[in-house]
Amino acid sequence: MKHRRLPVAEIARLYTEEQLSGEQIAERYGCNPKSVTTLLRRHGIPRRNPREAHAQARAVGRWQPTWTGRKLSREHRRRLARSGPRHPRWNGGIWMRPWRNLPKVRCESCDATSRLCNTHRNNDYTDWRIENRWVLCVTCHRRHRKQQFWRSVRAGEKPLAFNGPVGWRSQRERAA
Ligand SMILES: [Zn+2]
Repeated sequence: MKHRRLPVAEIARLYTEEQLSGEQIAERYGCNPKSVTTLLRRHGIPRRNPREAHAQARAVGRWQPTWTGRKLSREHRRRLARSGPRHPRWNGGIWMRPWRNLPKVRCESCDATSRLCNTHRNNDYTDWRIENRWVLCVTCHRRHRKQQFWRSVRAGEKPLAFNGPVGWRSQRERAA
C-alpha cells in the first residue's frame, strides 16, 4: 500500500477548531488513530488530556459514560444466560447429591469401615429417597455394578454406562 501524506493543516484545524477526536479524524481519512496522534505530536499541536476530551465531548453531546458498558443485543444476552433451565445439562432442578453429607459408618455388605460410598439400592439413579441409600465399600460397589452390568447384558438390555440418572442421555446422544 502506498504511503499517504495526511494533510497536516486540515487535521490540526479539525482537532483544535472542530474539536474532533483523533479517532474521528482517523475514521474520516481512513487511517490508524495512531497516525493522527503521531502527526499532532510531531507538529507540536497540544493534545487534549482525557479530562478535557470528556468535557469537550459532553459539550457537543457526544459523550458516553465509560462505566455503562456495552449494550448487549438480545441474542447475545440470551446466549450468556446459561444457568438454570437454559443450561444444556439442566436436570430438572433435582439436587443430585442429597446424601453427600450423611455419615458413612460401615459397608452394609462386608462391614468394612474405610473407602465407603453411597449407592442406589434399586439401581434407579433418580431415586434419592433415604431408604434407597445403600452404603457400600468400593470393592462391594464395584462387584455390585459388575453384576448389574452382566445381568443387563444377558437380559439383552443396554447396560448403564455411567452414574447418570436413568434415561438421561448425553448431548452427543441427543444430537444423534
Ligand atoms: Zn463392602
